[in-house]
Amino acid sequence: MNDHIYSLIQLAADGQKLQAEDWETVLNISDPEAQQFLYGKASDLRVQLCGANVALRGLVEVSNYCTKNCLYCGIRKDNCNVPRFELELNEIVDTAMLAQEYRYGSVVLQSGERTDVRFIDKIAEAVSRIKKYSNGKIGVTLSCGEQEKSVYQDWFSAGAHRYLLRIETSDRKLYSSLHPAGHSFDNRVQCLHYLKECGYQLGTGIMCGLPRQTAADIVKDIDFFENIDADMIGMGPYLVQHDTPLAALCPDFEQEKAARLSFALNMIAVVRLRLRDVNIAATTALHALAPDGREQGLKAGANVVMPNLTPLRFRSGYLLYDDKPGVNENAAASRNALRESIEKAGFSVIDDDWGDSVHFFTKAKLPHA
Ligand code: SAH
Ligand code: SF4
Repeated sequence: MNDHIYSLIQLAADGQKLQAEDWETVLNISDPEAQQFLYGKASDLRVQLCGANVALRGLVEVSNYCTKNCLYCGIRKDNCNVPRFELELNEIVDTAMLAQEYRYGSVVLQSGERTDVRFIDKIAEAVSRIKKYSNGKIGVTLSCGEQEKSVYQDWFSAGAHRYLLRIETSDRKLYSSLHPAGHSFDNRVQCLHYLKECGYQLGTGIMCGLPRQTAADIVKDIDFFENIDADMIGMGPYLVQHDTPLAALCPDFEQEKAARLSFALNMIAVVRLRLRDVNIAATTALHALAPDGREQGLKAGANVVMPNLTPLRFRSGYLLYDDKPGVNENAAASRNALRESIEKAGFSVIDDDWGDSVHFFTKAKLPHA
């Protein structure tokens, strides 16, 4: 049995196509030695195709107002226990400029989903000021949900060049079990196409460990990433938020944390073996499951980390899930600690670099920026 697993991993590392059930087998590995073999292969491939550097992106959580009601998310519209906030334009820009001081190279502006004109214009203005004040040096990624194509176009024209919009799950039925009426799977897919058409480096991803989700679903999710030709993958474990409807379906969450982390790491490694030269984030959700979760993610094949720059007084308002790390963490202090721990994990932080997706340039046959 074990020999079979090792040979599957080796075949995948060599770029061979595996059957769906073989990918499932690899996703479900729990033997620590086999896992280390898997992570080693994924990490080697990442170094070979994307380099040994880790790109950092400063995360700015712009607003927790949200018009959506995703059943898993702590800032969903119907959660009345969340104090709502929205950064002023100058706060967004000043916070993003900290990235330059910290030599992060790029920022991600993320928010709850809003389609009001005031918000849309504010994001456009924030992006263009960040580009102007940094002389074009700071790269801007957006993660502000589903929008009209013209909005994505305007934000791209303002200077944003990457966008993260997770599909969450590519299974239509599972999607509707996680999202109430008013959410549309088709629209989410349509938005991913719009983003590509606008010229963004396209980021998508899923949560793993969702109620009713199987390893077979995740194999199909990875097919989805491949078919849509994503440049960046932001995936992470689903984590319970006590005020959400989905929490009731995960009564044993606390006892399952180690297994959930282990599965999420397997998923990173499998995505690296399948999608090869894309950017993969070691997300904060991994950090929520273990203090060194992000470093474990890097060792399993991820190559991007997103340290939080959001002003401290707003952090407790952006709790997508319980026990989110960094709520009281000082951005300047954590920056040094993060750099050290990344280096301890065997990687080097790349300063002042956008850390673009190699895949984006390879598929377009463009020279890498
Ligand atoms: N509103 C935007 C961006 C902010 S939410 C959007 O939804 O696209 C960013 C991501 O947080 C979501 O894509 C989702 O995958 C993740 N998220 C939300 N609730 C979560 C939870 N309980 N556990 C883990 N990840 C969660
Ligand atoms: Fe809103 Fe995004 Fe949370 Fe859904 S996941 S409720 S869209 S912030």
